[in-house]
Amino acid sequence: MRIIKNIDEMRAYSQKKKNHGKTIGFIPTMGCLHDGHLSLVQAAKKQADIVVVSIFVNPIQFGPGEDFKRYPKNLSNDKRLLNNFDIDVLFLPDTKKMFPQGFKTYLEVEEFSRKMCGRSRPNHFRGVTTIVAKLFCLVCPDFAFFGQKDFQQQLIIKTMVRDMDFPVEVVALPTVREFDGLAMSSRNRYLKPKERELATVLYKALCLAKEEIENGEKDLRKILIRMRSLIGTVPSIRLDYVVIADPETLEEVKAIKGKLLVALSGSIGKARLIDNLIVQAK
Ligand code: AMP
Repeated sequence: MRIIKNIDEMRAYSQKKKNHGKTIGFIPTMGCLHDGHLSLVQAAKKQADIVVVSIFVNPIQFGPGEDFKRYPKNLSNDKRLLNNFDIDVLFLPDTKKMFPQGFKTYLEVEEFSRKMCGRSRPNHFRGVTTIVAKLFCLVCPDFAFFGQKDFQQQLIIKTMVRDMDFPVEVVALPTVREFDGLAMSSRNRYLKPKERELATVLYKALCLAKEEIENGEKDLRKILIRMRSLIGTVPSIRLDYVVIADPETLEEVKAIKGKLLVALSGSIGKARLIDNLIVQAK
């Protein structure tokens, strides 16, 4: 596994591989890797000749008072995990090189960036699209792999790729969960043991909605009330949102029909957690 820190070296590496007819699979991450990230690496290994993983805690996707400064880091363990997968490049760009003084250019997918997580994190998604666009320019991937755990993010990236004609195929892969259903997340490390136990109520609320919808429940309000009251049994959870939305537009639906995105976000202790399920109505 080659470690590249220099952005010119990264670009030169990718261009050389492409000149030799190789395809590049890319997984952008913020590190502190877990099995969710590694499922993306595994898929990239199957699909592309060359696999590049980046680790970069992107300052511009964090708002004031969020966890940028204390975002969990464990580079030596990340390297060990990636070595097991025999990837080609670990790209570790330098923050000052990525955002030099005077940086002024942002890319934003309108509308989608304002819904769901965008309501309480107003500049979050433009930070994500800006960094991903920049990484795409440096890594030049043929395929880029994202997790459905961040459903809104993968939809926004797909939209950006379509609108900007980036020559990249975005591949979205299923959420990897802990044994009790909690979606794997680097932020789960913030949870104290009791909080970790209680956090599973978020997934339970999603499963409740899935079960009701699949059993033919058509009363949207009732489903949302039942989800909220289940989450309400854990008073330490500060719920941000619960939505049942159209997975293509993120627009909250008015009726239970077709394919639905059931998504939520809540904080417990120091961790803001998100999760979702795609459900097919009867
Ligand atoms: P992050 O390091 O949190 O920015 O995540 C990097 C990539 O890994 C994103 O595409 C995430 O959606 C994906 N990812 C994070 N957690 C999971 C998970 N539990 N299952 C699948 N993919 C995940």
